[in-house]
Amino acid sequence: MKVDWQIPVEPWKTIAALFLLPKCDMGCTFCASDLGFDRMSYEQACALISSLHGAGYENIVLGGGEPALWRDGKRSLADLAAHAKSLGLTVQVNTNGIRLAEGFANIPDVDRFIFPMDGATSTMHDSLRIVLGSKPTGHFDLVQERVRQCTEAGKQISIGTVLNRNNRDDIPALVQWMRRQLDEGANIHAWHLYRFQAVGRGGVDSEEQLALTDEQFRQACVEAKGSELPISIWRRDDMLNSSTVEFFWFDGGKLHVGGQVWGAAAL
Ligand code: SF4
Repeated sequence: MKVDWQIPVEPWKTIAALFLLPKCDMGCTFCASDLGFDRMSYEQACALISSLHGAGYENIVLGGGEPALWRDGKRSLADLAAHAKSLGLTVQVNTNGIRLAEGFANIPDVDRFIFPMDGATSTMHDSLRIVLGSKPTGHFDLVQERVRQCTEAGKQISIGTVLNRNNRDDIPALVQWMRRQLDEGANIHAWHLYRFQAVGRGGVDSEEQLALTDEQFRQACVEAKGSELPISIWRRDDMLNSSTVEFFWFDGGKLHVGGQVWGAAAL
């Protein structure tokens, strides 16, 4: 496909996160994702991934909405992962885990799955992570099963937690949860602690209920980092302005780049 974009080259940004589609099968209370952008076609996604590789990106994150819902005719997420892998990129899938295909953990072209865990109990996690449809709860158990399947397959994972006013006191119990997974053989690459942001389809309406002060967020992160878990723990104050990750999506057929769109909005 003929491309009509130029990827900004910022050598300190080595990770490219792709918003493949807005659709999701969850309605998380803090969702920072937007609804108003295009579902990428297979051709667009492959051309973009090739351009990103050409611009020096080493690592891509296939995300959504929910990337496991992405299709283009017969093409599925596995085809995008295969294209990225053929270029030598590290391939991550940032997923809620619900619609992953059977045997997902054995797909060789995916290096790592990123799963959410937002509370140490189903009561906390499922109050924040709502499954759309007739059975809104059960996501906590599902993530635990996905982690177990990855452990069995030897597949690396990362865990993301959106820290907010409701779950900040869960840090010690989340540390214990993480330790249990490690004891059972999970290959955990990192634990990302994202600060709740009042943006997107869920975040805007949840600000009053979920917003944290700077002090509360930092304190929770200090507590997690002080746990001496043998994994990397990252404090993500504002993921949209990350120094290492850039975001890409299409809207109206045109490529959009997070740093340009949000940077411009902040001026
Ligand atoms: S935060 Fe929840 S609702 Fe938003 S895209 Fe992720 S899984 Fe879907």
